Amino acid sequence: MIVTDNKPKKEVLEAMQDYHKIFIIGCGSCAAASRTGGEDECRIWVDDLKKNGKEAAGYFIPEETCHVFLLKSMLRQSGAAASSDALLVLACGAGVQAVSAATDKPVVAGLNSMFLGTTYRAGEFLKYCSLCGSCVLSSTAGICPVTRCPKGLLNGPCGGMVNGMCEVDASMKCVWVEIYERLKSRNKQKILATINKPKSFGNVRHQKVEPKKLSKEGR
Ligand code: SF4
Ligand code: SF4
Repeated sequence: MIVTDNKPKKEVLEAMQDYHKIFIIGCGSCAAASRTGGEDECRIWVDDLKKNGKEAAGYFIPEETCHVFLLKSMLRQSGAAASSDALLVLACGAGVQAVSAATDKPVVAGLNSMFLGTTYRAGEFLKYCSLCGSCVLSSTAGICPVTRCPKGLLNGPCGGMVNGMCEVDASMKCVWVEIYERLKSRNKQKILATINKPKSFGNVRHQKVEPKKLSKEGR
């Protein structure tokens, strides 16, 4: 899930300074789980808008806000949204852009997108994946060096590792030591004799924005 955090309220209010009547769009998926875009957070914003001299036109919470067609349909049916001056979106960057693609109304982002998170337990998330577009987890014992090694090394450990601990952050175990130990426990450490080639990071580079179907190759 995409983990989001609240933008400073001052920043959000500044972004909506030219608008009076605001309609709020939350997100029933990732932002609700992050406790930044669910029912409670929408209600808090309704109160905050009123306290700051704005009119809260109402809110709705799509099941997932990163869905342009769903957004178009919900916005078509919402008279309150149609009568508003701007939409405050409590969702990740993909959600804000989905709303922006679904309507001509100005959008105001209420949240910062932080990372692709693994839920540890309710309200606590681990940063485990950077969406690099070419996953190496099958050869690294299910531990991502791209994200969890501070240097993002595909072949490690680096020369700075000391007694199994990380050079960059001495409070944490070197991720490549973790990978080695996990592979060794399965008697699979010979995998590490194969050097990982540099990644293209094709997912990170600029790409033309157009609807893309997921590859079915190999299924
Ligand atoms: S290798 Fe890439 S896709 Fe796989 S977990 Fe790491 S960042 Fe994510
Ligand atoms: S010590 Fe290990 S985790 Fe730290 S930067 Fe070097 S390879 Fe990465």
